[in-house]
Amino acid sequence: MKCSHCSRDAVYFQRHSGRHLCKKHFLNDFLKRVKRSIKKYRMIEREERIALAVSGGKDSIVLAHVLSKLYGERRDIELVAITVDEGIKGYRPPTVKIAKSVCKDLSIEHHLISFKREIGMNLDEMVERGERNPCSYCGVFRKYLLNKKARELSASKLATGHNLDDETQTILLNFLQSDIERLARLVPSKVQEGLIVRIKPLREVYEKEVVLYALINNLPLMVDECPYSRTPVRAVVRDFLYEFEKRYPGRKYSVMRSFEALIPCLQSMYPQIRLKRCKVCGEPTPKQVCQACELKMELGILGLHVSDGDYAYKSRQKSSKN
Ligand code: SF4
Ligand SMILES: [Zn+2]
Ligand SMILES: [Zn+2]
Repeated sequence: MKCSHCSRDAVYFQRHSGRHLCKKHFLNDFLKRVKRSIKKYRMIEREERIALAVSGGKDSIVLAHVLSKLYGERRDIELVAITVDEGIKGYRPPTVKIAKSVCKDLSIEHHLISFKREIGMNLDEMVERGERNPCSYCGVFRKYLLNKKARELSASKLATGHNLDDETQTILLNFLQSDIERLARLVPSKVQEGLIVRIKPLREVYEKEVVLYALINNLPLMVDECPYSRTPVRAVVRDFLYEFEKRYPGRKYSVMRSFEALIPCLQSMYPQIRLKRCKVCGEPTPKQVCQACELKMELGILGLHVSDGDYAYKSRQKSSKN
């Protein structure tokens, strides 16, 4: 099959537009759509230092590659990468290696931080000790560390590799579970002290396109799945969306557009809460104590006592030694 734009062989059939695309026109189209969403949501403007969350998985590697292609030559835009090593035996070490080497190839300054060093325990230990689902610990601490590190690096934004499939799955999942408050959290946040604004430059490209972009550019593709990944409900939503999109191409965009139309409504239902500082660690939080500190206490990493109506903490490990 020939490309719909030139005489080269097509490598991809873009179902939602009905076009066959050769490598060159696929890459042009991919970059064009990323640029369009960056512009539409004003994700990256002049004089910005963008921190990239690079786990070493395909999405984050493509994110780093695309942003370095689009902004690598710009003097007023700086890119810096952060990798969080959660401490998942057998799974995380190879992706950390990939993240380091890709950032080196792209000349992006790279910072590696770990749960063990920053939180005091790696994820495998948390799972052994705690009662929660591994993803709850992982999600809260990763978000916490990424925000903290991005702020320390004076980043103005924090970019993650979420693609159209991730976003539409989350939107639909929240609808189906009637969790409108969580749905409202997907609305792009405004600037708040201490909280780095998150951006998702790949939110309008399909996951299969991210994979094809990686293959064409010879980027390493990590195919192993996290051993803790067991999200049956999300898998059902993912399969449903896949079938729906197959029969009615472009419907993932419809889900995204419907969500965008609801943004003003979600904003008035759940106005952005003015954040305070966590009484324990000082990080931004809507509550007295942030979720990360609550989990640390639960895991026995922090002991808690309340004095003068205020929170203070002491390390249980330290006190048990005394
Ligand atoms: S599947 Fe869960 S535990 Fe594994 S990396 Fe993702 S959030 Fe973390
Ligand atoms: Zn072509
Ligand atoms: Zn805290």
